[in-house]
Amino acid sequence: TAAHIAAVEQARALNAYVLETPEHALKQAAASDERLAKGEGGPLEGLPVGIKDLFATKGVRTTACSRILGNFVPPYESTVSSQLWRDGAVMLGKLNNDEFAMGSSNETSAFGPVVNPWRRKGSNVGLGSNVGAGAAGAIEGNHLVPGGSSGGSAAAVAAHLCLAATATDTGGSIRQPAAFTGTVGIKPTYGRCSRWGIVAFASSLDQAGPIGKTVRDTAVMLRSMAGHDPKDTTSVDRAVPDYEASVGRSVKGMRIGIPKEYRLEGLNAEIDALWQQGIDWLRAAGAEIVEISLPHSKYALPAYYIVAPAEASSNLARYDGVRYGLREQGRDIIEMYEKTRAAGFGAEVKRRIMIGTYVLSSGYYDAYYLRAQKVRTLIKRDFEAVYDQGIDAVLTPATPSSAFGIGEKGSADPVEMYLNDVFTVTVNMAGLPGIAVPAGLDSQGLPLGLQLIGRPFDEETLFSLGQVIE
Ligand code: GLN
Repeated sequence: TAAHIAAVEQARALNAYVLETPEHALKQAAASDERLAKGEGGPLEGLPVGIKDLFATKGVRTTACSRILGNFVPPYESTVSSQLWRDGAVMLGKLNNDEFAMGSSNETSAFGPVVNPWRRKGSNVGLGSNVGAGAAGAIEGNHLVPGGSSGGSAAAVAAHLCLAATATDTGGSIRQPAAFTGTVGIKPTYGRCSRWGIVAFASSLDQAGPIGKTVRDTAVMLRSMAGHDPKDTTSVDRAVPDYEASVGRSVKGMRIGIPKEYRLEGLNAEIDALWQQGIDWLRAAGAEIVEISLPHSKYALPAYYIVAPAEASSNLARYDGVRYGLREQGRDIIEMYEKTRAAGFGAEVKRRIMIGTYVLSSGYYDAYYLRAQKVRTLIKRDFEAVYDQGIDAVLTPATPSSAFGIGEKGSADPVEMYLNDVFTVTVNMAGLPGIAVPAGLDSQGLPLGLQLIGRPFDEETLFSLGQVIE
């Protein structure tokens, strides 16, 4: 724990942590030592982790990286984080993310962007040498984004500023940053983890999951994070398997679907080659490769960018200056609401609220929201049909590119940023589990990931297959 606290201080220039909680960590670590001395330890005893700032932590500032939450200190703990403490983990601090988890680059955070510890080849320091160099290493050279919205979680794991981190994924926010930082991230099946105490973005899509250095680490983390919670009616009452036991299990005879529609026109040749490499690895491990069709996937991205903002506009109505955090002065309550929301939300969040209220308004509801929900059903049925044919998992690239530069994308056209999610949003729309596993480096020396999509509640197969690729 002490070594990790020092590493976090050294690497402040990465901006991965928005709040460091060293006293908290040392206290938890001491309690952990006592339990271990008595031979009582839990499965995560003494392991230092970071918590995305979207998870409410009792007595510890939680902001969702938005100005509107101000210095909100929750009087309660999210179910997922409380299960980590139950199992012995130690909290190093709260991790940066896109504001309300809306983004793919961590650039929408009210605390500013996170720096990816990876560098393009030739632009001075790389991972490893950089961490020792601390602040100096991070501020030189071309800064790359770590992906988002869980950019702080991914960067912290990649730079060894924690052993693992919690994250959330609404449209790719665990898997895309994992792919950009050479880490492993799994979004479990919708309902696998409790959403209680996690700041809501789009409630029918949001799901918590871990980012870790290896498939095994994420399996161990997920076992502690998952499970039924009576406080979240969408969490499912099913036993949580021993995920670690599925790591290293043979994949012989498993049938892996390769969706032909994902060979997007203009797909980056290096990503295509890596995808082929992944296919070869799985085949060599005894899996059978089958071409499949997911015909409605091409509508997933536009439908997601209707459903997610719609739900967000409803969820974010609660930030009114009365109940939480920031309050601006106004002549009457309406002006107070307006001024608070104008000052408290960033541009991307405002854009989502406007899109959301538009697609939900009477007269447009049928044309946009209802239609997007129908598309969502078709996407789900595509997967059901494939799994009914005996496919165990689907293999795709995790992202259409490797990490890009800070400030490079989306400033003129937000859609350019939304396109990052083309391979990941489908999984949320269908409620399925998906894992991103590092599979190699591109010609710039940057990590690339592959994504495996599983049957509902079959995270175990993803851990087995993921380990073949990593
Ligand atoms: N990038 C997507 C969005 O901006 C997904 C974010 C997420 O998964 N939280 O909505």
